[in-house]
Amino acid sequence: MPPQAILFDMDDTLISSFKGSPRDVWRRTLDEFHAELGHAALDATADALYAAALEFWSDVSRHKQARLDLVRTRREISGLGLRRVGVEDETLAHRIGDALNVLRDREMTLFPHAHEILDHLRAAGVRLALVTNGAHEPQWEKIRRFDLAHRFDHIQVEGDVGFGKPEPEAYFHALHALGADTKTAWMVGDNLEWEVAAPKRLGIHTVWHDHTGNGLPDNAPAQPDRIIRGLAELIEGF
Ligand SMILES: [Mg+2]
Repeated sequence: MPPQAILFDMDDTLISSFKGSPRDVWRRTLDEFHAELGHAALDATADALYAAALEFWSDVSRHKQARLDLVRTRREISGLGLRRVGVEDETLAHRIGDALNVLRDREMTLFPHAHEILDHLRAAGVRLALVTNGAHEPQWEKIRRFDLAHRFDHIQVEGDVGFGKPEPEAYFHALHALGADTKTAWMVGDNLEWEVAAPKRLGIHTVWHDHTGNGLPDNAPAQPDRIIRGLAELIEGF
């Protein structure tokens, strides 16, 4: 039976925002900096940048401010990473951070069947909301670029409304806009805190998009009600 409503995450749920592993994205970003860093140092620098990114984003207290200004954040992470390999160069850090943004933007693509599945769900009478964290401009740029706006009954961007996942208001506001409640709604997403642990506490049925295919990590904060490897699995059975 289809649910009454589905709340969808956008990044890495409907849109694939990088190719390969996150560490490889840093490594590809560094290709154009071989003159400054030296070919031999590129792998070690990529490891350091990735480690700095993991450490940076693991700090929940600064996550919200950081994701609302990704340009500044990625410059800062690049600076932290470069320092780990003994490079103190703020200009270079800014250029690497900006280059990462450009590369991610270029490699961004819709996951297979995204439009088709959304349209199918809507035609089946399921009310759909897009609930995405991040700032107004970059998020709406993606919504337009990937032709998502008209496919949803409600679009909620953190930078527009002032609250985001995992704040309970983010889910309740979207459900209210759809005329739905927690008992008849699903949340679909890739983030185990924002789209599984937090909505599950509110009684929402949670679907984890395991887009990497690596399975649930040992330290998962909660068990999703369902795990899908691809979006097409969402409409199986109805
Ligand atoms: Mg996501």
